[in-house]
Amino acid sequence: MLLKDKVAVITGGAGLNGLGFATARQMAAQGAKVVVLDLERADPAGAAARLGEGHLGLVADVTDKASCERAAAEVMARFGRIDVLLNNAGITQPVKTLEITGADYDRVLDVSLRGTLYMSQAVLPAMQAGQGGSIICISSVSAQRGGGIFGGPHYSAAKAGVLGLARAMAREFGPQGIRVNCITPGLIETDITQGKLTPERKREIAETIPLNRLGAASDVAGACVFLASDLSAYCTGITLDVNGGMLI
Ligand code: NAD
Repeated sequence: MLLKDKVAVITGGAGLNGLGFATARQMAAQGAKVVVLDLERADPAGAAARLGEGHLGLVADVTDKASCERAAAEVMARFGRIDVLLNNAGITQPVKTLEITGADYDRVLDVSLRGTLYMSQAVLPAMQAGQGGSIICISSVSAQRGGGIFGGPHYSAAKAGVLGLARAMAREFGPQGIRVNCITPGLIETDITQGKLTPERKREIAETIPLNRLGAASDVAGACVFLASDLSAYCTGITLDVNGGMLI
């Protein structure tokens, strides 16, 4: 088992069709104790219960620093360590540059970028006190090619910001045995895509992707397990594309 006895915290992990929950399932199967963090309406306790015994669901809003700190303190009280953080919480908004309001900009950047900073700040002291750790940040192909199918320019900016923040943290915390890496998913079938693409449109998109299909949440989850585990012990500051070859 790749993650035996590791404690893994996953933000935005309660959506049963999402990347976070798919990763929670794979990490639990690899022996991790998983902490599912999410907004109250997403029912993180219910999601954690689906993983089986010994996991934990916590309500937390990653845009609120005190909420992140409370969550990290609860994890430490329950498990006494934090080995892995997956910064997965994110929201999109399919609008064009001239339509973005200040409030839209704040909302989208707050969840992906501020949330990644606040949750990393909340768990880093535990990783420093332990034997290092692995922080994985979910960016997006939208950051690399400037726009995607569902995200607006502010989403691309937020996800590009995540790449920079992660590399800076990788440089700063590498000497303490804390690795920080990013995953840039392509178009993955989750609630974000569900019902929004006709089968014909999906086929058209798939034809433009070298592997000829949209991604599955489990594709991203596998990459997360790799970056969380010692299989990637010499990787830090990397960006792992999980996009079926979209950028070739
Ligand atoms: P999703 O909507 O299922 O997951 C996002 C989760 O974040 C939800 O459970 C939501 O409740 C949670 N969340 C939102 N605001 C929050 C907050 N303030 N605090 C805590 N949790 C919050 O969608 P998904 O497709 O699984 O997306 C997961 C991540 O992957 C996101 O960061 C998304 O931008 C990124 N991504 C998705 C795709 C794709 O094609 N699906 C592609 C590239 C990147």
